[in-house]
Amino acid sequence: MDNQSVDCGCDEIPQPLLSTDKALEILTSTAKEISTTEVLKLDDSLNRVLATDICSNINVPGFDNSAMDGYAIHLKDEQINTPGGFAFNITDRIPAGSTGSKLESGCAARIFTGAPIPDGANTVIMQEECELIENNSRIEIYRPISLNENIRPMGNDIKSGDIILAKGIKLKPQDIALAASVGSDTLEVFKKIKVGVFFTGDELVKPGSKLKQGQIYNSNRYTLIAMLNNLNCDVINLNTIQDTFEATVDALESLKDNCDLIMTTGGVSVGEEDHVKPAVEQLGKLNLWRIKMKPGKPLAFGQVGNSAFIGLPGNPVSAMVTFLLFARPFIKKLQGCQAYLNTSYKVAANFDWNRSKPRREFIRVQLDQSEILAKANQYPKQGSDVLSSMVWADGLLEIPEKTTFKKGEIINFYPLSEMMS
Ligand code: AMP
Ligand code: MG
Repeated sequence: MDNQSVDCGCDEIPQPLLSTDKALEILTSTAKEISTTEVLKLDDSLNRVLATDICSNINVPGFDNSAMDGYAIHLKDEQINTPGGFAFNITDRIPAGSTGSKLESGCAARIFTGAPIPDGANTVIMQEECELIENNSRIEIYRPISLNENIRPMGNDIKSGDIILAKGIKLKPQDIALAASVGSDTLEVFKKIKVGVFFTGDELVKPGSKLKQGQIYNSNRYTLIAMLNNLNCDVINLNTIQDTFEATVDALESLKDNCDLIMTTGGVSVGEEDHVKPAVEQLGKLNLWRIKMKPGKPLAFGQVGNSAFIGLPGNPVSAMVTFLLFARPFIKKLQGCQAYLNTSYKVAANFDWNRSKPRREFIRVQLDQSEILAKANQYPKQGSDVLSSMVWADGLLEIPEKTTFKKGEIINFYPLSEMMS
């Protein structure tokens, strides 16, 4: 934060006006991965971030094995790829988990999927292509046969020494399965980060109670906690605190030494009712950014004790969008994720954009997937208070600042399905 001008609260000094890209760059370059790790059983490691590379010390499979239920055959040289019509004596039976004996030339072993190929066998024919003859003691095959049909060679999936999982991935079911396949029963993951949250605003009421004139329900509390839970954070929630300077200082004091991050929504403007900014500045340092974007212009970023601080705007859509665009990559980087940035996809705008705007806009759109390039349709009300737009939308369309375009323009799209997980 040292290279940034810190807003001192004087009205004469302008708050830094930042581009979306610059704000993200400052945030993510400040985030340092958590240094503590823990070793978890595989079942407990889902969605956690892997803290070390995982190297296999075995081959998978560990032996050549059959890809089919069928017959392992010892083909003679003169039988390879010649017109079919060969018969073989069945001399063995090899279920998965057992080992057959050496197969003599011209012989076959009944074999099942996953069973080891016996010594001497050089190909496997699936059972549907074999005709049992002479009281099921022999098989006959009527087509040309090649070497190594239906044999999965040792190390086909993984070779001993391979790095199978890289540090910094968020563990998915398939990652855990791969670790199991090389015999690991635990994984070292980064500890969960602790995020303290509180909410300010005397107009806020807990859902379930009755509203008085001028009051609204506190929806941001649920936004923030659900999104932090999605990201697998440990949340310390102080709920709505009194909208005073003293109460805000107390809340920050109680969180600052046992959290990696403190987050709030609302109260980060410079209005006289907004106490978060002076309270953070009293205990630490704070940059109040005006980001050239819509929705969600004000964003506060700073440090209180050992904890980073991110103050999101109060308007519900702004709070959600700034969480997704800024707090999410910041949190993922703290968690040790390598791929901490949001991924965008190309879609076509299904509308004209006739007026150039000074701020980048992230508009709520639904995708029409009926054509190869999806078309994005916008929600009719794009106000930062219209939370229904987020429920309706498939994602956010990133309209660059200072631009106009016609329907069909290819634009970046950020899917909510991805960002909300
Ligand atoms: P503020 O940033 O505190 O000036 O708030 C901006 C707008 O967001 C106001 O209309 C607030 O009532 C609204 N708002 C602030 N906090 C919340 C919240 N937790 N839930 C829903 N709306 C909120
Ligand atoms: Mg307020």
